[in-house]
Amino acid sequence: MYKIAVLPGDGIGVEIVPEAVKVLQTIGEQYGHRFEFTEALIGGAAYDATGHPLPDSTLELCRQSQAVLMGAIGGPKWDTLPVHLRPELGALLPIRKELGLYANLRPAIFFPGLLHASTLKEEVIEGVDLMVIRELTGGLYFGEKKREQTADGGWVATDVLTYSTMEIERIVRFAYDVARRRRKKLCSVDKANVLESSRLWRETVSKLAEEYPDVETSHMYVDNCSMQLIRDPKQFDVIVTENMFGDILTDEASMLTGSIGMLPSASIGGQVGLYEPSHGSAPDIAGQNKANPLAMILSAAMMLRYSFDLEKEAQAVEKAVSRVMEEGYRTPDLMEPGCNAVGTVEMGDQVVRFIREG
Ligand code: NAD
Repeated sequence: MYKIAVLPGDGIGVEIVPEAVKVLQTIGEQYGHRFEFTEALIGGAAYDATGHPLPDSTLELCRQSQAVLMGAIGGPKWDTLPVHLRPELGALLPIRKELGLYANLRPAIFFPGLLHASTLKEEVIEGVDLMVIRELTGGLYFGEKKREQTADGGWVATDVLTYSTMEIERIVRFAYDVARRRRKKLCSVDKANVLESSRLWRETVSKLAEEYPDVETSHMYVDNCSMQLIRDPKQFDVIVTENMFGDILTDEASMLTGSIGMLPSASIGGQVGLYEPSHGSAPDIAGQNKANPLAMILSAAMMLRYSFDLEKEAQAVEKAVSRVMEEGYRTPDLMEPGCNAVGTVEMGDQVVRFIREG
């Protein structure tokens, strides 16, 4: 039996998580596994109910589980709370830190059925299969933050960007291991021409490269990488980068797949893995059965692969998503002429149908 903590969160999180649970239950029925789901509050919903966006009971449930399935958190309702109580800073960053989830895997994979969904030319995106590995518990997002008043009545705001050799080595070794199981190409992305933390990053990667002669290592500045991702994304296999660069580059990479609603993620490194889509709570479409649940469902497939070592089952989910696309079912974010418009729930139902059909 596999114990899973389920944290729907806010906005479209509460709509897409049930679809992923439905898919996992179907996998359980088809392959003879038992998944036990226990739900808890996180984010704005947790703040409204308990006064804190990450209640101790939620964290404890995650620690007692084998994996965490999370929707998305945040929204305008909670944007004016004191910083430490806001969903992102009070729950999202702490849960990653508390669970030791230093490695965030975000695959951007081209689905043949979505050839026309991307804003990019077909020949650019056809065949894209890249993995961005983002450092998740260090850098600017976790550094000291402060604001000081100046003599002229203005303010000075500071965010500190720190990386240690240990933090860099840990994520880069992880990325090399992933690259070894793929096409053996690792591109390390930094801003070493300007930032001291990036210079340490680059030196550390260069030293480690000697231990992985079977993997082709390259370095790229983040500004160039953001351009190359659009110009020629097929040059990349594995990209490894620090926290903020990874955050930004993966939103860009999602457009290679057609929609941010297609980009899953896995956060690993500690005892318990956390699986969530790369997108946020999309308040603009929340509660309307319009959200694309596929990034969430593909995150559940990553859970099967990385937390439970159920490769065949993970592939069954991915194949079903591919079939759904090929058969022309589309949520509004991917809609194109001649396709079948479906809502969040119906999209989940179609994935279930194709898993059952095998
Ligand atoms: P967002 O990812 O929520 O939305 C950006 C755009 O993409 C919106 O137009 C939205 O409708 C669309 N979109 C996102 N997911 C979609 C899906 N599954 N299907 C269809 N369309 C989808 O980013 P944002 O608007 O910058 O942030 C909204 C809130 O989410 C903020 O409070 C932000 O802090 C939070 N956020 C949370 C996480 C997280 O929980 N991990 C990540 C990013 C942002």
